[in-house]
Amino acid sequence: MVPSYARYDITLSHGKGTYVWDTAGKRYLDAAGGIAVNSLGHAHPRLTDAIHEQSQKLMHISNLYYSEPQGQLAAKLTELFGGRGKVFFSNSGAEANEGMLKLARKFGSSSDVEPGRYEIITTLNSFHGRTLATIAATGQDKIKKGFHPMMDGFTHVAYNDLEAMEAAIGPKTCAIMLEGIQGEGGIVAAFPEYLLGVRALCDKHNLLLLMDGVQCGHFRTGCFQSYQRILEETPNEFQPDAVSMAKSLGGGFPIGAFWVSSTHEDILGEGYHGTTYGGNPLACAAALQVLEVVEDEKLDENAREIGSFLTACLTETADLFPDVLKSVRGYGLMMGFEISPEAYRDRDGTLSSNFVKDLHKHGVLSVPSGDKIVRLLPPLNITKDEATELHRTIEGVCAEVSDSSGDPGVDMATLKDQIGY
Ligand SMILES: *Cc1c(COP(=O)(O)O)cnc(C)c1O
Repeated sequence: MVPSYARYDITLSHGKGTYVWDTAGKRYLDAAGGIAVNSLGHAHPRLTDAIHEQSQKLMHISNLYYSEPQGQLAAKLTELFGGRGKVFFSNSGAEANEGMLKLARKFGSSSDVEPGRYEIITTLNSFHGRTLATIAATGQDKIKKGFHPMMDGFTHVAYNDLEAMEAAIGPKTCAIMLEGIQGEGGIVAAFPEYLLGVRALCDKHNLLLLMDGVQCGHFRTGCFQSYQRILEETPNEFQPDAVSMAKSLGGGFPIGAFWVSSTHEDILGEGYHGTTYGGNPLACAAALQVLEVVEDEKLDENAREIGSFLTACLTETADLFPDVLKSVRGYGLMMGFEISPEAYRDRDGTLSSNFVKDLHKHGVLSVPSGDKIVRLLPPLNITKDEATELHRTIEGVCAEVSDSSGDPGVDMATLKDQIGY
């Protein structure tokens, strides 16, 4: 395989719920969740049944025809957006964002003068995907290296900085694209006033507000979309013009989508956009089942409760081991904690990757976000016992790494006894 990934030395063979096993039989608690994808954990019987059943009827028909799962999923998603707007299905997050970017360009173009308005403002440290347009949209230089010249028409400004945003708007601007919580950028959430301010700027300058909900969406924060969670205590009528989705949408089955509000729902008319696989019956049946399980099992509430519980536990751990854990942040089950610069003074590699590797040794999967932040993105149906095990393991690693590891606080052997692994 092309060596574009620095993989860990772990080969996974199967999973059940919150756990996965490697080919040597070692069990891991999966708080990586396939990078915020496995929203129902592994091998959820309702999801595997839905995929099995649909695969015996139709897997793929192209978008030349209608299929029931696609129509049902579109109905369900538009219902979640308040019974308005329309959706377009793709296969991935980057493709969902590509669709939104095309929507914005089409919105900004005028048929007699091309190009019309075409500039899109995004934020520093954002992440929007790995295609040529979405790396141009992404506000991180490291992912653009080697791929210049970048596609024209993107400006990046500091996140959560309304003045910088306003200053960047020009006569060619047609849209602003934002993550409600920057996932690859270190679990950094938008402030409520920022979201409302950006909405007001978009209204004032006739710009589309595009929300990239690929990682932070789909109930992970305790609400369907992260901006709903962020704004829940702020009276408002915030509505974006379009929202992209992927990751948790299919619970592990590849599917992406973007939703567009009713005002702009017919901008991408016949022939303006397409995909062969996107929204095929198998992917849609999977995504539909994920939504039904989330609803039936109230997994939004679970994400909120377990998220608060874990945040409280980890905040105590950060107080106990300030030389290892610096801070804890996030909403629901999209959490990040910062590793202190003192933690790995005599080891090579980034702080976050060292901590992630230490967690591997003790049977927990997690994901680095940048050099300093470790992300927890467990399944939305993780139980309190599993969350306790996750916390204890993290605390155990902190104790090992800490200068004060001789202290009586926590000890790995006792910990393993308590947890029983
Ligand atoms: C993962 C991610 C993407 C890209 O999704 P892919 O499915 O990898 O193409 C886009 N935006 C955000 C915020 C993401 O986290």
